Amino acid sequence: MTLNDLQDFAGVASEAVLAEEFGDDTAGRQQLLEQMRGRLKEMRDSIRRGLESDEPSRTGMVGWNAKTLWEADDPLQSPLLKRVQAYAMAVNEENARMGRIVAAPTAGSAGTLPGALIGVADELELPDERLLGPLVLSAGIGKIIGKTMFIAGSTGGCQAEIGSSAAMAAAAVCEMLGGNARQAVHAAAQALMNTIGLVCDPVGGYVEVPCVSRNAFYSVHAVSAAQLALTGVESFIPPDEVVSAMASVGRLLPPELRETGEGGVADTPTGRAVALKMSR
Ligand code: SF4
Repeated sequence: MTLNDLQDFAGVASEAVLAEEFGDDTAGRQQLLEQMRGRLKEMRDSIRRGLESDEPSRTGMVGWNAKTLWEADDPLQSPLLKRVQAYAMAVNEENARMGRIVAAPTAGSAGTLPGALIGVADELELPDERLLGPLVLSAGIGKIIGKTMFIAGSTGGCQAEIGSSAAMAAAAVCEMLGGNARQAVHAAAQALMNTIGLVCDPVGGYVEVPCVSRNAFYSVHAVSAAQLALTGVESFIPPDEVVSAMASVGRLLPPELRETGEGGVADTPTGRAVALKMSR
């Protein structure tokens, strides 16, 4: 199944993913939904730990940002925005502290999906049952993208990691809020299209800077994409072509911008100083 196939499904997109995986195997479907319930609990646990902790990571670059934001006043008077950003950073700061997280699809991009999906659900006080189908869909979207481009910053830059996670999150939020298959797929396409070109430039090679704050930004990006799709805004470029475009840009990226820690913000005086300090 491709994204273009999925958008034509008459119903919610997660049904199409379940049907493709299990057909009429009801036990298999139930088992997957139970697994998703477990993943959701793990995601919630990592959010809780991340919001409570201000322990720095080993490099000392991150570790307190989620707690700082969570406990701060809300200058924009936008509790949804603050919650989504804080949840996303909480997960990635846990990752930076070597805490337990759910890769979604990778550890570096682990905060984007829970930030967006659980953040919106909590703000709207939706029950966890409403998140299970969307989590299945997010996995299905990741799998489809992964058939075209290997999902790793070292292969396609951050657009392949956080771009994919934003696409997964956008589709999931869209379905959770009542979107049909076409809307969910277009949410994913918009989210992915608007991350094309994002390079992978972790300072010192550690998945901390810019990764932690990047998850905060792209969780909000995913919510924006869901909002556009739910209100009828579609991607002009067909969804499968967006995936191909991302893959093609990924292949054009020089090695310095693909997780080597030799380009972008990693190649700044501060970034190089961190790399030198950590190598001693
Ligand atoms: S910058 Fe690289 S390491 Fe960091 S989240 Fe993006 S792809 Fe992962």
